[in-house]
Amino acid sequence: MKILDIINTGSKELKLNHVNSYRLDSEILMSKVLSKRREEVLINLDQELNNKQILEFNQLIRRRASKEPIAYILEQKEFWSRDFKVNRHTLIPRPETELMIEKLIQIFKNKSISILDVGTGSGCILISLVSELKNASGVGIDVSKKALQIAKKNAYLNKINNKVKFLKCSFEHSNFKKFDLIVSNPPYIERGKIKRLNDDIKNHEPWVALDGGNDGLDVIAKVIYKARYTLKINGTLALEIGNGQFKKVSKLLRNNNFRLINNIKDYKENTRCIISNLI
Ligand code: GLN
Repeated sequence: MKILDIINTGSKELKLNHVNSYRLDSEILMSKVLSKRREEVLINLDQELNNKQILEFNQLIRRRASKEPIAYILEQKEFWSRDFKVNRHTLIPRPETELMIEKLIQIFKNKSISILDVGTGSGCILISLVSELKNASGVGIDVSKKALQIAKKNAYLNKINNKVKFLKCSFEHSNFKKFDLIVSNPPYIERGKIKRLNDDIKNHEPWVALDGGNDGLDVIAKVIYKARYTLKINGTLALEIGNGQFKKVSKLLRNNNFRLINNIKDYKENTRCIISNLI
């Protein structure tokens, strides 16, 4: 059978299973099977596939039909124009988080800083920052050993493994020397709302990376409290937050001696990141 026919069949099956991006996903999964770029696949639609390739493609379509995110099937996600390995033990890096990276690079350009990334997951935040800020180095911590394995691979793939360390520990119980910058994209979804998220997220992404407790602020509050004792004076805390959490989080920050210096809004004008300095 020809590539075009197989892509069409896959696309139909995904549509039937309510995958919105059915056509695109079918094409992407075909490029994975053929180990070719999507553009290259699309100019060779008349090419015949062998049975092994068809079988492999059908398996991938079945995974996507069950709402497994494309990033997990490809084991890869682009973030800040770099490739990151991901799997079901790491949250999939999101474009909102790139807004935080952009701002931090502006602020710390040419500065020599030490960074702590709390709940590093795939390591995407720390690795992107250290790759851009040539004089920076840092530590990424996470409670998930399996996520840290991926973060370490990503540091190696991005050729900065000599400038970052990844450690398994909870921030609450850590005892580090003080840092210039602490970044965190903590779990901030209200527990009761997790079941309302898309199947892609709630059935496949790690709960520990999403669940922010009853009001979504459990982890954020712990990070703010501990950051106060883990930052140098005038050090910076950059936090990603959920929709509608700005008021409560800014209050927590002020109560813990932080001065707000920047809010970053997403494309829908919601504040999604707060940058503050320790007074
Ligand atoms: N730091 C990682 C990211 O931003 C993981 C965040 C998390 O697991 N909550 O993607």
